[in-house]
Parts: sequence; C-alpha cells; structure tokens
Amino acid sequence: MYYFYINFKTFKDRTIWIHHGDCGHCKNGNGMFESGSNEKGFWAGPFKELSHADEALNSLIKLFNYQPEIGRHSCCQ
Ligand SMILES: [Zn+2]
Repeated sequence: MYYFYINFKTFKDRTIWIHHGDCGHCKNGNGMFESGSNEKGFWAGPFKELSHADEALNSLIKLFNYQPEIGRHSCCQ
C-alpha cells in the first residue's frame, strides 16, 4: 500500500513524497512518531498501486494555487 503526506505549512517549500506503507517515514500512514494524521497535515491513502497514489496526488495539487514538487521516496524504488 502507498501513501503520501501533505504538510500544511511546508508543502510549498518541500517535495511531497509518495511512500510505501513499510517505509519508516510512513508506517502505514501513521508517520515517524506513529501518531497518525494531526493538525499539521494528513496522510492520504492507502493506495493499492503506486500509480493510484500518483493520480490522487496530481488530482489534489490541481486544487492548490501552487504547484508543489512531488516525487517518489526511495522506499518506492
Ligand atoms: Zn518512504
């Protein structure tokens, strides 16, 4: 399963990475501190396929007034 994280404060400054659920940064959408989504942002997912996460993220950023950098974290290679 794949996930990505939108951080409300930093999405304009930092790349939005897609992660595999097994990644230490992601932990199935619970994040590094295993606290789940919180007021600072949210995890989107799970997506069954990496391409589904790509599509969802691209659809989401169309709603923004800004084009953030997006990428696939090394855990997806
Ligand atoms: Zn990762």
